[in-house]
Amino acid sequence: MPLYDYRCNACEQIWEARHGFDAPKPNCPNCESQDTQKHITQAPTFARGMLTPAGTSRKQSKEELKSKWAEETPKLRKQLEQKLGKDVVKRNAPTLYDD
Ligand SMILES: [Zn+2]
Repeated sequence: MPLYDYRCNACEQIWEARHGFDAPKPNCPNCESQDTQKHITQAPTFARGMLTPAGTSRKQSKEELKSKWAEETPKLRKQLEQKLGKDVVKRNAPTLYDD
């Protein structure tokens, strides 16, 4: 039987379930919620909750992107800090603090 990764929309628990292809979705083992979905583990987790540059051109080299982000990140960080407070920003977007 195939092994699936599931994610609970209610409590964000992620777990693995082994069941048949057409079996009903399992309830969350943590909070019993039925609001669950198959979780794609291959998705890039670094982008979760982060801002990804929209419409990024494939022609742009990594170096160009890097320098653009080096320029944009402090601005973005400052904006977010003013809005949400430094602690919140740091907790939710730790990559903004990677230099
Ligand atoms: Zn849950």
